[in-house]
Amino acid sequence: MDSDDMARLIDAAAAVIDAHADHLTALDQAIGDGDHGINMRRGFAALRDIRDDLAGMPLPGALQKIGMTLVMKIGGASGPLYGSLFMAMGKAMAETPGGPGDVAAALAEGVAAVKKRGKSDAGEKTMLEVLIPVAEALCAGAQAGEAPAALLDRVRAAARHGLESTRDMKATKGRASYLGERSIGHIDPGARSSELLVACVCDFAATMPNAGAQEA
Ligand code: ADP
Ligand code: MG
Repeated sequence: MDSDDMARLIDAAAAVIDAHADHLTALDQAIGDGDHGINMRRGFAALRDIRDDLAGMPLPGALQKIGMTLVMKIGGASGPLYGSLFMAMGKAMAETPGGPGDVAAALAEGVAAVKKRGKSDAGEKTMLEVLIPVAEALCAGAQAGEAPAALLDRVRAAARHGLESTRDMKATKGRASYLGERSIGHIDPGARSSELLVACVCDFAATMPNAGAQEA
């Protein structure tokens, strides 16, 4: 992934979040405080502002800077969680650079950091409903030596299924947990923003010459 790719990916992610901000906010109005779209838009606009700096950095350092920026700019509960995800991925990549297996390992580290920061796990109706199966799919696909297109399809499908699974769950973490049973029947906003970002990265990875090998 060269610096043009990084700039293109940041622009794409910021555009996707911007285009869906109202939708994310509407989801958060149903089971939270209605700011998730605003929070995410602010965070990703900040990434776009420093896009040229990020594009000039090696990937591990860029991921860590992305994480720190998201912590500061997204705010809310999701800022520190997304921040932890990217910072831990950057740290993991700094230790084991290169290759699809390493991307999978880095994402696994990122997801572990979200769990730790959120004191949360699968089944609590959060962004982890998407992030955990995506990390598992990437790991399984990479280990099986799956062809790039199939691997990306597997990852996209894992994100979609994870997202849909939040609808019937009762929230036990975050603001939505205050609603108890009344959180059932609604998609989790953070799971939706995660699914949007995963789909965006998959679309981007599909355009790379060695598609699928570099999707972080
Ligand atoms: P806030 O809840 O502070 O208003 P946001 O609206 O930006 O923050 O983000 C809410 C999202 O954050 C939720 O939809 C959920 O996916 C995620 N979230 C909240 N708490 C946790 C947690 N403890 N672990 C994992 N994800 C969480
Ligand atoms: Mg909120």
